[in-house]
Amino acid sequence: MIDFLIIGGGMAGASAAARLSELGSILLLESESALGYHASGRSAALFEESYGKPSTVALNAASRIYHETAHGGFLSPRGLMMIGTADTAEDFAADCKTMSLNAMSVEEARAMLPILNPNVVDRAAWHSDALDIDTDRLIQCFAADARANGGRVVTGAGVTAIRKIPTGWVVEAGETYEARVIVNAAGAWVDQVAKLAGVAPLGATPLRRSMGRIPAPGGHDVSSWPMIFGPGETWYAKPDAGALLVSPADEELVEPHDAWADDMVLAEGFARYEAHVTEPVTRLLSSWAGLRTFAPDRSLVLGPDPADASWVWCACQGGYGIQTSPAASQFLADMVSGRPSELGTDVTAQLLPDRLRS
Ligand SMILES: Cc1cc2nc3c(=O)[nH]c(=O)nc-3n(C[C@H](O)[C@H](O)[C@H](O)COP(=O)(O)OP(=O)(O)OC[C@H]3O[C@@H](n4cnc5c(N)ncnc54)[C@H](O)[C@@H]3O)c2cc1C
Repeated sequence: MIDFLIIGGGMAGASAAARLSELGSILLLESESALGYHASGRSAALFEESYGKPSTVALNAASRIYHETAHGGFLSPRGLMMIGTADTAEDFAADCKTMSLNAMSVEEARAMLPILNPNVVDRAAWHSDALDIDTDRLIQCFAADARANGGRVVTGAGVTAIRKIPTGWVVEAGETYEARVIVNAAGAWVDQVAKLAGVAPLGATPLRRSMGRIPAPGGHDVSSWPMIFGPGETWYAKPDAGALLVSPADEELVEPHDAWADDMVLAEGFARYEAHVTEPVTRLLSSWAGLRTFAPDRSLVLGPDPADASWVWCACQGGYGIQTSPAASQFLADMVSGRPSELGTDVTAQLLPDRLRS
């Protein structure tokens, strides 16, 4: 009998595996042939502490020390710049406040980002505290920690059936497993997995977000450029290994699936980006999309289901599942072992699944 059977090998499942392997035996089952194939391998890989609901911001802050220090650290400098026009003044002001960005002149902004169009962009603000996360290494280190504690990680093992027994659960995934507790970390598929087990779903919504990778605009060395945001999260761009990622920041409600970028959505996002810069998009190197899965209130869902403590949710990481993973998995382990969380009672109430069950 396994103590914790974790379904899903994205950042949520891998981080849960690392923490729960300190409490008992764990088995992680992932249907794809590698960890991080879906949302966790398709993110913008950014750490921005102010991003998200208050409970998410609390998780971001509590995760920072792990990202900075564990396994030699996963963060590197990036910075974040918001650029705007008179038309977007309200969103620009609101975002600058939320993210504590410092106002700068357009000339100062152009010194950092030479492609900004000074005939269009009339305001800019910046901070240095947004950081790149080495997501590949982060997920592999979580899995390595779980294995070092005796845990098993099995890929190519999609869970197809789940049945309740008096001592816990029987799970079919090619082989048959028995576990005391199931941790549902199935990303966009969390509600489908719950239904397999006869557990009430959360009402999780998978929202597609697309990404296009274009050659460095104007042949510039983009390596030291900050991440660039359009006000109101209408598009963003970020240097990526000598090229530039441009995202339309779309949020299209879809069924759980292996997502891909919609050409029209990408083109519209590129147009919003191009409206602010001097260099047009002439070529697409590659494109992809991932599913950002949200709870109805957009906070993460972490902890035992109030109807059955042997069913644990590690779900609805939305657009924050990479940066929150250290503290979210710690919170999960605290809730499973009955320890109060260092995040306090207010944040705890905002994260537990109880809030979604009336
Ligand atoms: C374009 C984009 C940009 C983003 N940018 C950022 C960012 O900058 N910073 C940040 O922190 N977050 C970002 N995110 C969000 C982040 O990627 C997600 O919150 C996070 O990856 C979710 O992790 P997860 O493990 O819950 O989901 P996933 O990575 O999707 O993992 C779920 C896994 O469950 C598996 N699974 C499903 N059903 C079963 C089954 N029946 N049996 C076995 N396995 C199953 C799936 O195969 C999948 O691998 C971004 C997301 C996108 C799409």
